[in-house]
Amino acid sequence: MRRCELIRVLGGIVVGLRPHRLLVVAIAVFALLPIETGNAGWLPDLFKISSKHPKSQKRAKSAKPARLARHRAPSKPRATRLAALGPVALPPSVSKPAAGKCDPATFRIVLDVGHTAESEGAISARNVAEFAFNLRLARLIEEKLKAEGFAETRLLLTEGKARPSLFRRVASANNLRADLLLSIHHDSVPNKMLEDWEFEGRKGHFSDRFSGYSVFVSRENPDFETSLRFAELVAGEMKAQGLRYAEQYSQAIMGRDQHPLLNKETGVYSYDELIVLRKTAMPAVLLEAGSIINRDEELKMGSPERRNSIAGGVASAVKEFCDPRWALFGPL
Ligand SMILES: [Zn+2]
Repeated sequence: MRRCELIRVLGGIVVGLRPHRLLVVAIAVFALLPIETGNAGWLPDLFKISSKHPKSQKRAKSAKPARLARHRAPSKPRATRLAALGPVALPPSVSKPAAGKCDPATFRIVLDVGHTAESEGAISARNVAEFAFNLRLARLIEEKLKAEGFAETRLLLTEGKARPSLFRRVASANNLRADLLLSIHHDSVPNKMLEDWEFEGRKGHFSDRFSGYSVFVSRENPDFETSLRFAELVAGEMKAQGLRYAEQYSQAIMGRDQHPLLNKETGVYSYDELIVLRKTAMPAVLLEAGSIINRDEELKMGSPERRNSIAGGVASAVKEFCDPRWALFGPL
């Protein structure tokens, strides 16, 4: 039945109704009418989401989206139902398109260099601090992204001791009003797995048991859905580079470092409590680029070739995130 005919039929029913029933009928009419974008002039810009500017998506965030965002919302039907009930505050998973397009010139990704010069993170098998690996890789990623036109890319270096630095880096990322955060790390193993050896006359520790990259997201991030989308792209690119992911995080042997594996093909894990992933106001992902406690992999991670392929993979993931067509056709 066409909309105008329906109104005429309902109009006939309305004649003879007492005034207090008119309100009930009016609500029923709005609930039954199909919502057509072209006709829904009374609707505020609630459902008009800019597909070009992710900052407008950010403004659409509601106060408590984290738990709602856990469930992948069937966006279209739900939006239509909610539209029939009038303007309401929508969780981002509903109000946002599944995959947004962004302008590289204004899109701001923050590359968070894991750890600090004072608290350097893990120590490699050859006694090099993780912070040095993180900084070198993050700088190369920054370089590649800027070369691809992502002029707003920012390297985030934090100072101070480990725990306070975590809150400082979150505050810095939030102040930068970033659209996306990628935290760069290199992996080690729990202390109980370490073995002793000597390298160039110095005592050191190693474990050749595990290797590989891994990608983490927090289900407590205010925009988990977008975080996961970017994590999938990063992990997919790592796999496409011929790298294998670290499988041990899904195993009981890791004790409290065991985490749910969200994608067993590409190696995306959830790590809900991680401050840098859950306290940031923007979608956030953490990349453990590879193991530096594994003696073979440490050498690879130190090589320009490996650094180049990881940084190139991350840059491709960001481009794909910003424009899904890139994955199909390459640069447009
Ligand atoms: Zn680390």
